[in-house]
Amino acid sequence: MRYWGYLAAKLAGAGLMLCGIAAAVLAVLPRPAPIRGLVDDPFGHSLGYTVGIMFYTVASAMVLLLIVWDHRYRCRTCMRRLRMPLATGSWTQVLLSRPRTEYICPYGHGTLKVEELQITGHAEPDWQANEDMWKELLKK
Ligand SMILES: [Zn+2]
Repeated sequence: MRYWGYLAAKLAGAGLMLCGIAAAVLAVLPRPAPIRGLVDDPFGHSLGYTVGIMFYTVASAMVLLLIVWDHRYRCRTCMRRLRMPLATGSWTQVLLSRPRTEYICPYGHGTLKVEELQITGHAEPDWQANEDMWKELLKK
């Protein structure tokens, strides 16, 4: 729950920031006069205005993409960036051990396994939470 709440908070923050940037872009871009009084919406009719809005749209999509990409490689427990990518498997033995990359939380909360080979469609990364290290030590 904390993992999704952190993503929602980042998206809300980015939304507020992008709304501020949109207000600044609309204030900077002069709204052109209507063409012969017929066209009121300058988008698609004024080159400068249209290109400005298109750049803003692409930049906004990139910000959202970076947020989602960054969030995929965070620990589900402590929200820290996952570290130490380890390539496992083999590209020459795809059927027996498929190539994948494993990332771990620096505090040992879990492991994220990302498939490198997507033969049968998109495979979601597999998060495996580790048990508490002290519980494992006290069992023996
Ligand atoms: Zn962690």
